[in-house]
Amino acid sequence: MKERELSLANDSATVALGRAVANACQQGLVLYLYGDLGAGKTTFSRGFLQALGHQGHVKSPTYTLVEPYSLPDRQVYHFDLYRLVDPEELEFMGIRDYFTPESICLVEWPQQGEGFLPPADLTLTLTYQDEGRQAHFVAQSKNGEFLLDNLSVI
Ligand code: ADP
Ligand code: MG
Repeated sequence: MKERELSLANDSATVALGRAVANACQQGLVLYLYGDLGAGKTTFSRGFLQALGHQGHVKSPTYTLVEPYSLPDRQVYHFDLYRLVDPEELEFMGIRDYFTPESICLVEWPQQGEGFLPPADLTLTLTYQDEGRQAHFVAQSKNGEFLLDNLSVI
């Protein structure tokens, strides 16, 4: 499956989608998260991280750019590039060390790092729709397609 479109009626549906994607994720992954401020990128990431065993708070690492999560079976890096001034900064922070074949990278505002970020396996675009949100996935690699094929959303 190359694309998938879903309606998310409320906050819990966004969290549930994050959980479902995490549960379908069997290897390393680069997931770009597109959407305006408040579209639900961090809410999605919270569900994703919780499904992999994270129990604490999840907030956008707006000032630090990246938050690492060492979870029982996975290493996850949650990026928020909203405040990135120059994408070259990603070189200075050693961006390549984060994007290993085994790691999972969730990237909010990937367009800010264009040219310096490894390509995505999967993109998720969240848009406002009435009181809820619309989710649109596009697979960008075999790994991304495999994940969409295995995605089970309640
Ligand atoms: P972003 O990281 O994209 O800026 P956040 O996830 O931080 O957005 O915030 C999204 C806001 O919208 C939160 O207040 C959250 O509760 C709410 N929200 C998330 N998903 C939905 C949804 N499907 N329908 C309505 N509100 C949602
Ligand atoms: Mg955010």
